[in-house]
Amino acid sequence: MLEKGSETKLTGMKGSRKVYVKSFGCQMNVYDSQRMADTLAPEGYVETATAEAADLVILNTCHIREKAAEKVYSELGRVRRLKEAAAGEGRNVLIAVAGCVAQAEGEEIIRRAPAVDLVVGSQNYHRLPALLAHAERHGKVVDTQFPVEDKFEALAPPSLSATRARGVTAFVTVQEGCDKFCTFCVVPYTRGAEVSRPVEKIVAEIERLADAGVREITLIGQNVNAYHGEGADGRNWPLARLLARAAKVPGIERLRYTTSHPLDMTDDLIATHRDLPRLMPQLHLPVQSGSDRILAAMNRRHTRADYMDAIARLKAARPDLALTSDFIVGFPGETEDDFAATLSLLGEVGYSGAFSFKYSPRPGTPGADMADQVAEEVKSERLQRLQKAIDRQQAAFNHRCLGRTLPVLFERKGRYSGQLVGRSPYLQPVQVEAPDAMLGRIAAVTITEIASNSLFGALAQTPAREPTFAAAGA
Ligand code: SF4
Repeated sequence: MLEKGSETKLTGMKGSRKVYVKSFGCQMNVYDSQRMADTLAPEGYVETATAEAADLVILNTCHIREKAAEKVYSELGRVRRLKEAAAGEGRNVLIAVAGCVAQAEGEEIIRRAPAVDLVVGSQNYHRLPALLAHAERHGKVVDTQFPVEDKFEALAPPSLSATRARGVTAFVTVQEGCDKFCTFCVVPYTRGAEVSRPVEKIVAEIERLADAGVREITLIGQNVNAYHGEGADGRNWPLARLLARAAKVPGIERLRYTTSHPLDMTDDLIATHRDLPRLMPQLHLPVQSGSDRILAAMNRRHTRADYMDAIARLKAARPDLALTSDFIVGFPGETEDDFAATLSLLGEVGYSGAFSFKYSPRPGTPGADMADQVAEEVKSERLQRLQKAIDRQQAAFNHRCLGRTLPVLFERKGRYSGQLVGRSPYLQPVQVEAPDAMLGRIAAVTITEIASNSLFGALAQTPAREPTFAAAGA
């Protein structure tokens, strides 16, 4: 274990090494992976797109999905073979495991996968250069303690060129950790207590991103609408006020935030959906179950009625709001009646899409020790029914966009020459024939065709304006 504050430097390798970061899981991990690469850039590490070419392979892991740890071990088997092949050529490849599986498994990772050189928890990756140097000189390192120093303060900012290469949309972490302790979730254990970044630091990061050409920012956090970071006035600002401040950064044309908890959908945040045109009309608001009995067992701290009340207030503020959610089926004790309640909630809300998963116990969480675990085949059958219902809702939502003219932010080139891919305000991918010069711009697009996972459209003559609630109908 490296001592806290140990300041070993990576030396003698400037400009000579390549790092490959593989990101598993949510947007928080995508953001963390980019920041890991940023932190290693001043040490001479250049990002590469393939593990084969890398001198350092980092697996930035996620513990939310089923069998997450097993998937990491299987990926480590592949990386170990690359390391062995490189050693045969006289090249030393370092392997690091970061993120939530690293946090949860710690030294067990090195015991089961001895080729791993470094295990670094989700709160410690700002110390990567020192940890890697230590691993090279003294052998394997495990660092999963929650640090006393501020990770974000210690991170190197991304270079302008790295930011440009990442495109016109970006995530910015504003809050980390969670104090809610849902009984199925590992986040409070792997990411720790809820911490909000100060407003000034967030705004400075958004300004840097805007200078590099970013047009859309998604503020992210495990419980982002519980945000309460310190503002320049010394007060704790809620997310609504942070969004209003972010909207003033020149060059930023679109804002989103994720992931939210229903209990933290405050009146001021809901009003922001009505009053801030740059806040896109799309919200991910996980409910997990439609049954009060299961919500209580999950320790969600809200009822079905609380959730529906939040939805009603949101829809009153912004009638065209597209809603998405997460659902867990087969939580311990879930009966057919409980599951029917989930299906009925889905029907009542009408989502533009949703993620749904079979419950799988996470070691160390209360749900894992609950009696009456639901049989695997029952979970699978319920999941199938739920996914079919979600697919129908998503298709219906997309079909309601057919013929509409929507502002689309062009993010990247499409698969075919002359084609660009962008996003509608409702976060749908839209494929359009358009010149490359339109990358990074918002243009009006008439939706002409619907495929299962994306829309097709044609550039329209009308000017591109983000829809207001008067344009409801999605
Ligand atoms: S609110 Fe979200 S992050 Fe927090 S414990 Fe519940 S599911 Fe996990």
